[in-house]
Formats: sequence, C-alpha cells, structure tokens
Amino acid sequence: MEKKQKLLHMQKKKGKKSKDPCPVCDKELFFNEDYSKRAGLLDDNEECVGWMCPYCNTEFDFENRVTYIMPMENGRGIA
Ligand SMILES: [Zn+2]
Repeated sequence: MEKKQKLLHMQKKKGKKSKDPCPVCDKELFFNEDYSKRAGLLDDNEECVGWMCPYCNTEFDFENRVTYIMPMENGRGIA
C-alpha cells in the first residue's frame, strides 16, 4: 500500500521535554514548544498513522517503533 507523505509539523503534547532527537540518526527534532520537526505520515483516509524523520527518512509509528528505515551510507543501523 502506498503511503502519502505530507510534510507538516506535528503538534506535540504540552509539557514534553524540549530535547527530541531522532532515535535513528540522533538529529534534533525539536522545533519549538508546540511543534516538532517530525513529518506526519497519512494513510489513504488522511489519517495520521505515524511520523517520519526529515533527516534520515526513517518512518515510525506513534510508539517510536521503526516501520521503515532507509539504507544509510554510514552503515549505522538499529538492532
Ligand atoms: Zn532521523
């Protein structure tokens, strides 16, 4: 199934920690107090089903489990 990808800043819950690094590439995903740099992933029904790191293009579900990972040139992966 083809997933639509829309780049949008996802709203965060208030009171979350300000540091929000990507679990895969460790790039900082913190944007401001209300939004992260995570890109929302939408399914065919335009429902948000997860998020994608804009740096390494790894896709996650909302429990930060990797659902798709791009091959990385530096060879670093996750177990
Ligand atoms: Zn990343």
